[in-house]
Amino acid sequence: MSTRPNSPAAKDIAYSLHPYTNARRHEETGPLIIERGKGVHVYDDQGKDYIEGMGGLWCVALGFGEERLVKAATEQMQRLPYYHSFAQKSHEPSIELSERLLDMAPGDMSKVFYANSGSEANDTVVKLVWYYNNALGRPNKKKIISRIKGYHGVTVASASLTGLPTNHRDFDLPIDRILHTACPHHYHNAFPGESEEEFASRMAGQLEEMILREGPDTIAAFIGEPVMGAGGVIVPPKTYWDKIQRVCRKYDILLIADEVICGFGRTGEMFGSDTYAIEPDIMVVSKQITSAYMPLSAVLINDAVYQGVADNSAKISTFGHGFTASGHPVATAVALENLKILEERKIVDHVTKVAPRLQNGLRQFADHPLVGEVRGVGLVAAVELVADKDKRSLFDPVGRVGFHLYDTAQKNGLILRNVGDSLAFCPPLIISEEEIDTLLERFGQALDETYSWSTRTGVA
Ligand code: PMP
Repeated sequence: MSTRPNSPAAKDIAYSLHPYTNARRHEETGPLIIERGKGVHVYDDQGKDYIEGMGGLWCVALGFGEERLVKAATEQMQRLPYYHSFAQKSHEPSIELSERLLDMAPGDMSKVFYANSGSEANDTVVKLVWYYNNALGRPNKKKIISRIKGYHGVTVASASLTGLPTNHRDFDLPIDRILHTACPHHYHNAFPGESEEEFASRMAGQLEEMILREGPDTIAAFIGEPVMGAGGVIVPPKTYWDKIQRVCRKYDILLIADEVICGFGRTGEMFGSDTYAIEPDIMVVSKQITSAYMPLSAVLINDAVYQGVADNSAKISTFGHGFTASGHPVATAVALENLKILEERKIVDHVTKVAPRLQNGLRQFADHPLVGEVRGVGLVAAVELVADKDKRSLFDPVGRVGFHLYDTAQKNGLILRNVGDSLAFCPPLIISEEEIDTLLERFGQALDETYSWSTRTGVA
């Protein structure tokens, strides 16, 4: 530390290890420093404006600068900045939020448990599933089935649920008792001529085969995102969830909906489970619950799960799980206000109204020489780039062209994320049709520039 760096960028390079970042590339190029945000826009430290096409990380539902959320946080900080919920303590914001969540949730949910992130919530789910089956005297019914390309977080158990190589490789994961079944991506994984319905039946059949192979008495739960998000925005094929749900019921397997991205209006209904008629036994929410102004996640469980957990906790004197900030009063107060605004401003209706502008607008790029598939529902979508449109073949290496497009879009004032060669879109739910048009324009420009680069350099 003899000569200290003094610009913010140099300090960032010197002092920070960034999540989901190529550390060596960061040493060379440094950070993009975002200074402020308003609506669907953010501004960097040079004053350059960007449309936040990903709502941050799929989370800033109400956009940046929503004063009512700031006020809710400030007032709660003044009244009671912190209290916990261990040992039968409680406080009003978390009590009210639980009631509201249970009113909103699909099916018949009974209780809410709070954590701070999607990962913590999914680790909680794994432990709840194990605890519940121990309570029921089924010590062998412990395996949890997730899906290839599913995303459920990065802590030890949730990263194991995640079905992506980057989250396992060199982290010594997954842990045992976590299995991964096939990814329901029709575009890549269907046989030639196989309809979506036939493909969905085959996916459900594969799940059933896995259950029978392992032994139904060993399988405790199935977890899935209604629409897969971080794996590349993979929309389920028609009839998929109905068929998966039936297999789970047949073998007494808990169905867990990870609504961390889909929850609170993203798919054009309040929950992805509403869009796909899923009736989960356990549901996980986070991100848009507070528009990400405060970290918060929640696990909702039905009464059967609750009764098992409650009996066991009474038997061994306590439910030995919880976080210092479970149900944090400021986070739950912000969530309550956020959900109030969602309802008052009829944000879900707004999503239904403007979603076609985004979905149809993106589908106009389907004829572009680089574009293989455009997919999405509500205000979440992806444009996938392929090396050969007819063969649907991937670029080698995967991700190089996708990264170039992501980077070019950013230079053109549009922040996206590339999942390999799929560009993901998940703008704030408040986005207007005019703003969608600007987003599409910036994306089209970046796509053309990427195409010129790829032909010039011989990549594509
Ligand atoms: N589940 C899903 C579906 C997610 O998309 C994410 C985050 N992208 C998580 C869980 C993990 O959430 P967190 O990053 O807050 O731990």
